[in-house]
Amino acid sequence: MARTVSPSCKQCRREGQKLYLKGDRCTAEGKKCAFDRRPTPPGQHGLARHKNSEYGIQLREKQKVRRIYGVLEGQFHGYYERAERMKGVVGENMLALLEKRLDNVVYRMGIGASRSQSRQIVNHGHITVNGRVVDIASYQVKVGDEIAIKESKRNKACFTALKDAKITMPKWVSFDTTTLVGKVLDNPKREDIDANITESLIIEKYSK
Ligand code: SF4
Repeated sequence: MARTVSPSCKQCRREGQKLYLKGDRCTAEGKKCAFDRRPTPPGQHGLARHKNSEYGIQLREKQKVRRIYGVLEGQFHGYYERAERMKGVVGENMLALLEKRLDNVVYRMGIGASRSQSRQIVNHGHITVNGRVVDIASYQVKVGDEIAIKESKRNKACFTALKDAKITMPKWVSFDTTTLVGKVLDNPKREDIDANITESLIIEKYSK
């Protein structure tokens, strides 16, 4: 399965902001975050001044969102095309489609510390949707779906540790850390998506 292989911290430095791609390390005390230590773009000419064109700004916003969700270009464009065919605001539809990917839902429920770890949990067949194993990270969940850790995997240390974890999750999902079963309660709304994203820039880029 294709995925982004560029080192996570370089991606944050390239986009000029913390994208929180490495889970606990991103919020750990003691300068563990590479962006906190060196918030300049990577490479020999990272400090050089670059004049950003309108296209450049739109491109960077698209790359940033793509990196946050760990999606490759073709698939990302596919979300835009699908969002365009839906009723409502295209940018918000696109973000909702990205949020409803199974790997993101597993991350939002606090099962994985980052989206990449959540993707791995899904790919390894540890997650069930409505009682059936789903190992496709891009699987689109629906309102009412029951997302759970596969029964035979619930004794794994990484999942038993969830019982004592304090998880902050958006209101459109719930997850019971005792039973290790969660639910999709609603469709994600724009205000539920906390990342610093200007989706209109991406729509402008794609609609040219
Ligand atoms: Fe980005 Fe810092 Fe996390 Fe690295 S540790 S992925 S630079 S937020």
